Amino acid sequence: MGPLQVIYGGKAHPKDEGGKDLIRSIYRAAEELTDDVRVTYLEEYDMILGKLMCAGVDLWLNTPQKPHEASGTSGMKAAMNGVPSLSVLDGWWIEGHVEGVTGWSIGESWEKESNPEGESTSLYDKLEYVILPMFYGRPTAYAKVMQSAITLNGSFFNAQRMMTQYMMNAYPTPSRIIG
Ligand SMILES: *Cc1c(COP(=O)(O)O)cnc(C)c1O
Repeated sequence: MGPLQVIYGGKAHPKDEGGKDLIRSIYRAAEELTDDVRVTYLEEYDMILGKLMCAGVDLWLNTPQKPHEASGTSGMKAAMNGVPSLSVLDGWWIEGHVEGVTGWSIGESWEKESNPEGESTSLYDKLEYVILPMFYGRPTAYAKVMQSAITLNGSFFNAQRMMTQYMMNAYPTPSRIIG
């Protein structure tokens, strides 16, 4: 198999001490791992960096604790760019996930409570036994997953579909506006 690099992005609110501590612990872990896995933390995450990351990585990793993922828009942005997700089954991924087709789940069920130990085992197992062997050994199969992220996820999880649904289901119909 080939090498693995982890790229983090995102920032904590200046008053969010817990969030800042979390970022510090990622920096410490990255230093400890230097010789084994390259871990990079991109500072000053913003729309421009977000655009580069969503379009430029090979896999989108999302590890919320269920059920706290508000939505997971960044995974949708990645899917539109042909980037499959490896994510806990929470937020949009409950609907967008088709195992091995649009990406991969961390853990097997959205219904169970978050179980960080089980989820980290699942994350490492999927990377080691499923995703990396496919990425390096069967690039055409991986490209097919990338395509399906666009065709199945990108075609549905977009603002056009959302606005149409708002128009059809939430806003008054044109006939009611006209009277
Ligand atoms: C998409 C985006 C977010 C939201 O990311 P989530 O993973 O959905 O929380 C936040 N900040 C920037 C700059 C973004 O582009």
